[in-house]
Amino acid sequence: MTDAPLKLFNSLTRQAEVFEPVHPGEARVYTCGPTVYNYPHIGNMRAYVFADVLGRTLSWKGLKLTHVINITDVGHLTDDADAGEDKMEKMAASQAQSIWDIAEHYKQAYWADVRALNIRQPAQWTVATDYVPQMIEFAKGIAEKHCYELESGLYFDVSTVADYGRLARANTEEGEGRIEAVEGKRNAADFAIWRKTPAGETRQMEWDSPWGRGAPGWHLECSVMSGEVLGFPFDIHTGGIDHREIHHPNEIAQNQAHCCTNGLDDPRNSGARIWMHNNFLVERSGKMSKSSGEFLRLQLLIDRGYHPLAYRLMCLQAHYRSELEFSWEGLGAALTRFKRMVMAAESLKARLPGAGRDPAALGPGLRRGDEWGKLQPALDKFDAAIADDLNTAVALTALDDVLAAKKVDEEQKAALVAAMDSVLGLGLFGLTRADLRIRPKSATIAEDDIEAALARRKEARAAKDFAASDAIRDELAAQGVEVMDGDPLGWEWKLV
Ligand code: AMP
Ligand code: ZN
Repeated sequence: MTDAPLKLFNSLTRQAEVFEPVHPGEARVYTCGPTVYNYPHIGNMRAYVFADVLGRTLSWKGLKLTHVINITDVGHLTDDADAGEDKMEKMAASQAQSIWDIAEHYKQAYWADVRALNIRQPAQWTVATDYVPQMIEFAKGIAEKHCYELESGLYFDVSTVADYGRLARANTEEGEGRIEAVEGKRNAADFAIWRKTPAGETRQMEWDSPWGRGAPGWHLECSVMSGEVLGFPFDIHTGGIDHREIHHPNEIAQNQAHCCTNGLDDPRNSGARIWMHNNFLVERSGKMSKSSGEFLRLQLLIDRGYHPLAYRLMCLQAHYRSELEFSWEGLGAALTRFKRMVMAAESLKARLPGAGRDPAALGPGLRRGDEWGKLQPALDKFDAAIADDLNTAVALTALDDVLAAKKVDEEQKAALVAAMDSVLGLGLFGLTRADLRIRPKSATIAEDDIEAALARRKEARAAKDFAASDAIRDELAAQGVEVMDGDPLGWEWKLV
């Protein structure tokens, strides 16, 4: 039934490869999670929507998924290489709050976005500060052969492992332009795995180590948490495309040092067999930058009346490896498409035999050998698309085909919609069209008043009193309500 072999693009080889699990029947995935020093922007959330679709696809293919996402609450500098300040310490200082409170607040905010976007809970959220003793042990294990100490900390010598930077297609010297010089570094791309607290300073988060009191480097954190929880080698490591350049090459170098130091021709040595990266969401006017006043957070979309899952749909309409340009028009178009899908699912649900039946429960019941009749081509199209390096844009059209199918068994149709949605994660059967009408924060008029005005307008039109009907329309417009006569979705009004 779902037979297309799963192919995933591996950044390490720059090729799509047929997925072969390290442990038969299982898939173990590690996703670089957020640094919880500020709210995530919607670009950040694209990375987790991608990782979620990957996990759901692995489940669709019958694999037992173990997904881990980390929470970085220490050690990430304002520059991914070794320059700048600690993001967490900097935010805590600027807000005059404890770093632990900052971490808790922004972790909760991130989790709220995760829930709003229907991103499934991973098997484990690993929090960096819970793993510091293991990080010290890991560093001790590689220090002698691969590291050297400087005034500012313990540094990894990238020339001690074969193929450094293969993932980034860079070498030890090419990194130079990006990496602020640290006195005494042997190679430009060498990086700190332990950062000592400078003499005379104290940090809110610091631990004792053989290299002095200080904090772990960000790259060390991910190597340790992924290896601890999933075991080396595990199947897939994910992150945004920026991580392909510095963070992940550095993780790989550490993993090589930890595992065996051989070259990357043996994929076991990189810690994870497959490294996958989502491309960026871009916004030309700079609203994605967290330093711009009103940056693009999911809450801003909601405040403007867009359902958060319209943003998820917008992500799914593009391939994860393509850049996606954000625009309010694009989001509006995704919302319109989403409304259509929710309305189709709603009416399908209403037509199902057996009142109160939960169609979502029908989904996972797809079985090999089931006869899908007229729905078979859509199922094949969906499976082939999703297996082709997660081609969600095409998979969505297969879902549209099923929603539009006529003269088919309604229960089968609902089962197929639910099954496809178990991969796309749009939550179609859990929503009604009313859920999609979100009140923009700026709206001043109450919905009951709008409905009452529209009822009066209907009466006026029935009595052919077009002057009165137009006056009501104008009054509503003055309060930010657009009346939508003849809207194909039957959406009689919207707040603008
Ligand atoms: P950070 O919290 O800065 O470590 O970022 C969290 C995740 O978001 C990482 O996987 C980044 O690679 C990813 N990311 C950052 N900016 C964007 C963007 N504009 N579009 C997509 N992913 C992004
Ligand atoms: Zn990471």
